[in-house]
Amino acid sequence: MKFGGTSVADVERLRRVAETVSKAVAAGDQVAVVLSAMAGTTNQLVEWTQAISKLHDAREYDVVVSSGEQVTIGLLAIALHEKGISARSWLGWQIPVRTDGVHGSARIEDIDGAEIIRRMELGEVAVVAGFQGVAATNRVTTLGRSGSDTTAVALAAALKADRCDIYTDVDGVYTADPRIVTAARKLDRITYEEMLEMASQGAKVLQTRSVELAMNHRVRVQVLSSFNNTPGTLVVDEDEIVEQAVVSGITYASDEAKVTLLHVSDRPGVAAAVFGPLAAANVNVDMIVQSASPDGSRTDITFTVTRGELPRVEAILAQHQAAIGFQEIISDGDVVKVSVIGVGMRSHAGVAQKMFAALAEKGINIHAISTSEIKISVLIGAEYTELAVRSLHSAYGLDAV
Ligand code: ADP
Ligand code: ASP
Ligand code: MG
Repeated sequence: MKFGGTSVADVERLRRVAETVSKAVAAGDQVAVVLSAMAGTTNQLVEWTQAISKLHDAREYDVVVSSGEQVTIGLLAIALHEKGISARSWLGWQIPVRTDGVHGSARIEDIDGAEIIRRMELGEVAVVAGFQGVAATNRVTTLGRSGSDTTAVALAAALKADRCDIYTDVDGVYTADPRIVTAARKLDRITYEEMLEMASQGAKVLQTRSVELAMNHRVRVQVLSSFNNTPGTLVVDEDEIVEQAVVSGITYASDEAKVTLLHVSDRPGVAAAVFGPLAAANVNVDMIVQSASPDGSRTDITFTVTRGELPRVEAILAQHQAAIGFQEIISDGDVVKVSVIGVGMRSHAGVAQKMFAALAEKGINIHAISTSEIKISVLIGAEYTELAVRSLHSAYGLDAV
């Protein structure tokens, strides 16, 4: 059972979590609980590290930002004791949750579940800090923002749990973010693949890596509300879905930035010259568009990166300007990527056209397009985000009736 920030936001809510856990224990389940920090805490911790130094040591950043979870796990263990339930808290290093050494966005390599399993069999509830682990250097790492979801799925895999329940502030996965699309519908089931695309294209209800892990280790994940008892959404294999819609969801990602290199020399090796230095600096490039050059000698290359990376990207490109041979960099942080996702796209034609037509009807200009087997994404001006998501939601017949 994993509880997110809003679900553990204060002492009252932690008591509720203890109540939910105690019901599972009373029903005879052996339970491990993974917690986030109280809502807002991690943001505050991140701000403090930045206030002291923008270019701080990532190893110390991890020590600071991982601390919110230490508070909530201790408090929940105490709340469970109050209910007469045997429980103990676990920090990442105590288990240990072993990760690589990429501080700030570490990957879990291995979780040793032996001691937790031994104690579960004696009736003890494990209350585990999400988001944190320990590197081979013995230093504390964190798994990237929203990383508690990944801790939960990885722990479920390590403990061979029957299910991993992700309790949050909405009662499941919706066809679009219910905070901006009031007509969004809750999905009873969604495939791993669609959930993976939705998460990576901006639906922040699950961290992308948690879905990746669930898919690879076949962990049954359920997303449900910690505030009411309505059934949630199950993330399942494709063959467990009886009637598959062509499109399952619409997402938006507002942390993108667009970079255009003007008048790049159009010759073999130029893309490698542009993207090589970015890859070497661990910059993730998302959409890429290269326009045809009118005279065969010069072209423009447009691509997107995470907005926070923009200053670094501009600096790297400027440094390599002579080697790449471009005239000017133009960047735009005021863009959003809107995506339409559905496994039904594999077997249906005209899905992309419907998207373009719906956006055209609203006068929304498209800056870039990218597709995968089950997804179409477009880059548009940020001011059109809500209009685009709502129009597409209607166009694909997803609105609740
Ligand atoms: P937690 O703190 O429990 O981890 P998050 O804020 O990380 O919760 O994730 C839940 C939020 O995800 C919801 O409040 C909702 O606004 C947002 N969200 C975005 N897209 C979706 C979607 N398609 N379905 C459900 N929630 C979504
Ligand atoms: N507390 C961490 C964050 O806010 C991890 C999590 O909540 O999943 O990103
Ligand atoms: Mg979350």
